[in-house]
Amino acid sequence: MWFYCFAAAAEVSVPLEQAINELEAERWKSRHMQQQKLDDILRYQSQLTLQQQTRINIIQAQLALLDGNYGTAEQLASAIAQRTEFPNSQLAAYSLLMNLANLRGQYETAFYYMYRGEALLTPESDPRRRYEIYSSSANLLINAQIYDQAESRLASAQGLAKEIADPKLSCSAQYVQAKLAYLRQQYESAGRLLQAQIEQCRAINESLFVGAGLVWYGRTQAYEEQHEAAQKTLFEALNSLQQNGFKAGIVKANLSLAELYLRTNQFDLALQYAKESIAMGAKLEQWQDLVGAYQVAALAAERLGDLDDALYYERLLQQASEQSLVQSKAIRLAYLKARFSSTAEQQKITLFKTENELASLRKEAALTHRWLIVLGLFATCCVCALLFVMLIRSRKEHRHYRQLSQTDSLTNIFNRRYSLELAEKRYRACLVEQTPFTVVMIDVDHFKSVNDTFGHAIGDQVLKHVANQLSLAIRKRDIVGRTGGEEFALFLPSSDEAQTKAVVERCRANLATIRDKMSQQIEVTASFGIASATGGKLPLEALIRRADEALYDAKSAGRNRLVVYRSGKDVDSQPSQYEVML
Ligand code: GH3
Ligand code: MG
Ligand code: MG
Repeated sequence: MWFYCFAAAAEVSVPLEQAINELEAERWKSRHMQQQKLDDILRYQSQLTLQQQTRINIIQAQLALLDGNYGTAEQLASAIAQRTEFPNSQLAAYSLLMNLANLRGQYETAFYYMYRGEALLTPESDPRRRYEIYSSSANLLINAQIYDQAESRLASAQGLAKEIADPKLSCSAQYVQAKLAYLRQQYESAGRLLQAQIEQCRAINESLFVGAGLVWYGRTQAYEEQHEAAQKTLFEALNSLQQNGFKAGIVKANLSLAELYLRTNQFDLALQYAKESIAMGAKLEQWQDLVGAYQVAALAAERLGDLDDALYYERLLQQASEQSLVQSKAIRLAYLKARFSSTAEQQKITLFKTENELASLRKEAALTHRWLIVLGLFATCCVCALLFVMLIRSRKEHRHYRQLSQTDSLTNIFNRRYSLELAEKRYRACLVEQTPFTVVMIDVDHFKSVNDTFGHAIGDQVLKHVANQLSLAIRKRDIVGRTGGEEFALFLPSSDEAQTKAVVERCRANLATIRDKMSQQIEVTASFGIASATGGKLPLEALIRRADEALYDAKSAGRNRLVVYRSGKDVDSQPSQYEVML
């Protein structure tokens, strides 16, 4: 036995959900059954989730409303109306609070809940809850006699009932539609609608709506003077409403019976039912119905000869009429106030939304603007960097090509063209400054035999050494260039003969060291031809030619020596004189 109990306890969460669903769906079937089912569930209260607990609270609030325990209903529903995490239960709470305020005659509150509830509706809301809001709104607007507004809500409710395909919802929507027709004094169509509604609600055992429908139907019958049928209908209505414990309905059913008996001159019965209606109606403060009930009671008492009673009810009638008038004025005023504040609120919300959208648009635009600036700056930086790199590269290339065009590729000293170009500039400066300028033409001795003996590659190496040693022998301002195969030239600005001789001697000494730098036994010597000029108009070409001549003489004189060109006053007419140095 113990394991059975355990199993029952473990499985309870699924049946609990099912039981809550059933309880929600069959809400109005029978007050007694509802309570039993609710008590069953409440035995497992500790196992309910927060959401289930909230749904149970809604049902408890609805039952409290039905029982006339308005305080309890309001307390429960108000708490749930705050629970934004359960929007569907929140909607249920709003429609309940709307109904409650409507019943209590607190119309400002009722309309407040109507607008709040309707504002909360979204396409994702539970269709049942949406239905509840619309049908409650329709009821409230009917009470306020704002019938066109009621009709639009009713149409929404009926559409939802169809969508949900729940005959219970269709039944209640049909009831509201029929009641609306009655209140608009369209008795014929109301009669037809009520017949259909009662039939449909009866088919699905919706006894509450059967009862409520029967009250209005009985009234139409009485209006059409079908007194017996009306009496039957109204008793059936009263029965059904008493079973359901729907007190507001009971007040109306008793009043309808009282009115019928008054019509048929059954004054004692009229007074009896009027009193019934008054007793409960006064508790519920159903002023409109109370007016009717006092009126019947006063008339019936008068006819019965009980003038004291008649006067008493007449006085109460006066008070109730005032209350009812105040109430109906209040209800319209409340409607207008709620409508105004909701429109104002809506406008405020729209304004706020627009402002927010505008602010976010502005923010977005600023962000885009900033991004564009950043992008622009970045692009500019990229372009600048690219240009800079290109500039550097082109300058490097330019320098490289210029260097290539100025230097001799084998020896890395200036080539003939560039060394002559440079020499020309320096020579001109020396001419202006009246300082000496000397050209030294150099030719390596017997170089052909180096090539022949050791090969062309070794010959190249020797030429490199020669260029290097010549470069080492000169000063910074001097110029050395390769003017031909194994021929070199020195251009020495501001150097007179004595200084030049010293330079040439250094060159010769340097060339002698090449032998030690080569693995082969190669003696490297060269012949030097020197020509100087100080001021005058002699072109550089002529000076070079003179140095060449001196070189030729050095060769002729046996090589490995230096010859200084000596000219007479007139170069063309007098033969040259040479000084030969060993
Ligand atoms: P001399 O003393 O009369 O000047 O005799 P030489 O042999 O030096 O003169 P010649 O003009 O007869 O020979 C010059 C040689 O230099 C011939 C040529 O092959 C060689 N030569 C010229 N340019 C280069 C070069 O770039 N590399 C090498 N290895 N040899 C070169
Ligand atoms: Mg030569
Ligand atoms: Mg030579």
